[in-house]
Amino acid sequence: MKKPLLRFAATWLAACSLMLSLTALAQAPEHETTKISDNVYVYRHGGHQAMFVVTPAGVIATDPIGYQHPETVTTYIAEIRKITQAPIKYVIYSHHHYDHIAGGKPFKDLGATFIAHKNAKARLLKLKYPDVVIPDVTVGNKHSLNLGGVRVDLVYVGRNHSDSSLVMLVPKDKIAFTVDFVSPESVMFRGMPDSYISEWFTSLDRVLALDWDKMIGGHPYPGGRLATKDDVRSQIAFMNDLSAAVKQAADNGKCWDPAPMEVKLPKYAKWANYERYLPGNVERFCGYW
Ligand SMILES: [Zn+2]
Repeated sequence: MKKPLLRFAATWLAACSLMLSLTALAQAPEHETTKISDNVYVYRHGGHQAMFVVTPAGVIATDPIGYQHPETVTTYIAEIRKITQAPIKYVIYSHHHYDHIAGGKPFKDLGATFIAHKNAKARLLKLKYPDVVIPDVTVGNKHSLNLGGVRVDLVYVGRNHSDSSLVMLVPKDKIAFTVDFVSPESVMFRGMPDSYISEWFTSLDRVLALDWDKMIGGHPYPGGRLATKDDVRSQIAFMNDLSAAVKQAADNGKCWDPAPMEVKLPKYAKWANYERYLPGNVERFCGYW
């Protein structure tokens, strides 16, 4: 048991680190644009971000990230306009989830062509959400855009976090942009909604086989860094460890309960959202096994 002074010190330290993290949050600008290479930029607004590619002939933008926040989209366009007056030719959807793709109308009003995987368009036509621009063009397994001397490849690596996720590659800079299915040093979101577990593993193998060495995500990665192929390998290891632990729990009759409360993976205890999301991840794998 801690002595009162030690307990006070511990409380003070905890309060200080909370204050520091609150201060860091308060100091982080609401939005920012970061240059990654000669042509590639990242626009972040709150906890969402999108890659955009600037060329002399025009701009290739990605996810509008304007779900319930239209000012996010107008700020995104203003940020592009600080860099170039070239026309915004394309908006590419990473997948069909609204938190990444809603709010694109200001881009449409500027004449951009919207591109998505064919499964994304099929979903969006059924869901009929009013604040999503329906894609003009759909792609299958692979499509390349060439604009102003820069090539961007759109690669479908199969079903994972959704059935419509595209990897966007800028081959000349070996940069990849993926959203929601690669999560470096982070436990995956809650019950991994809308996911395809067995195919997710295959899609990560396919991501590793592509030619890139820096990855941008649809949410900032821990410490604001870019991801590497080692992050993808670590995620595959995490998903394999999670799967094996939940299989054992299922074999012992512990799925659906009490596995989400009992299964722990201490090797990953320092990963973001470990306490918060691991039970949801376990429940999802109970559904798998
Ligand atoms: Zn998503």
